[in-house]
Amino acid sequence: MKKISIIIPTYNEEESLPFLYEKLNEIMNQMQNYDFEILFVNDGSKDKSLEMIKGYREKDKRFNYVDFTRNFGQEIAMAAGLDYVTGDCAIFMDADMQDPPELIPELIKYWEEGYDDVYAKRRSRKGETFLKKFTAKMYYKVLQKMTNIEIQRDTGNFRLIDKRCVNALKKMKESERCLKSMFSWIGYKKKEVLFDRPERVAGKTKWNYMKLIDLAINGITSFTTSPLHLATYIAVPTFILLVVYTAYVIAKCIITHTMVQAFQAIILLILFFSGIQILLFGIVGEYLGRIFKETKNRPLYFVNEYNGEKELYDTKK
Ligand code: UDP
Ligand code: MG
Repeated sequence: MKKISIIIPTYNEEESLPFLYEKLNEIMNQMQNYDFEILFVNDGSKDKSLEMIKGYREKDKRFNYVDFTRNFGQEIAMAAGLDYVTGDCAIFMDADMQDPPELIPELIKYWEEGYDDVYAKRRSRKGETFLKKFTAKMYYKVLQKMTNIEIQRDTGNFRLIDKRCVNALKKMKESERCLKSMFSWIGYKKKEVLFDRPERVAGKTKWNYMKLIDLAINGITSFTTSPLHLATYIAVPTFILLVVYTAYVIAKCIITHTMVQAFQAIILLILFFSGIQILLFGIVGEYLGRIFKETKNRPLYFVNEYNGEKELYDTKK
């Protein structure tokens, strides 16, 4: 029997857990032909979440948990989920039912059809301010412009990934993480499923704008070093300006038979030296970008299929 693992990062969710527990049991009863593992990663909850999870485990051994020593944040909780998960595939889900568990059978259906990464895309979002929706939209736009890897829009962490993807993600040990962009980066066969995102069943969101900005920056920097090219891009027009203005000043001097005036000389000097400075920044940036990429120590590629001759070759030697 195939085993489905469900990873649930949990931080102060005592109010939502009973709803989630009930719903998960319903789904597991519906899908008797699969084994299940529910893996809670308790991210340093200060309420009764952990006791409740332990209670579930007493009743049903399919419920598992990893308990953090303190609050490390959702991204790290999900990284731990990847490390501890044992199923043939893993589903990431929030504890607050904003990722409707009813969608799980559909995710599994596509996985059985051979997709490696079945992600749930939000058709709509309830209970979110206009500002949040707008910033999210702009963010995706900018991010996509900066990279040539295809990014899944309006997609959170709610998705099912095959064991192959779990293993791939486990190789990415960077500490500043943004799993959402890592899912895109690893590739594999993807399939989208649409859903309407409901409001939280209970409790309050654990995210605020500061944390979201952090995540956004992590998202960009874990995808691309293109912001570092900015200086190089600014240096070029500065030098063009310098050349054009120099030509203009010289031409004017010749035509009107006058000396170069002080203000013109100052403008030329400013353009020249700021141009050189920006250019040097750009060079430093280019190297910095390379160091940044190297220190992340990511695998260079993931293989989808290989016909297997290499093994033969190795054993012959
Ligand atoms: N969460 C976590 N650690 C944190 C913050 C959140 O494990 O530091 C969990 C939280 O319990 C929930 C999920 O991450 O299961 C998503 O959090 P939340 O619902 O607050 O975010 P939102 O849906 O508002 O983006
Ligand atoms: Mg939520």
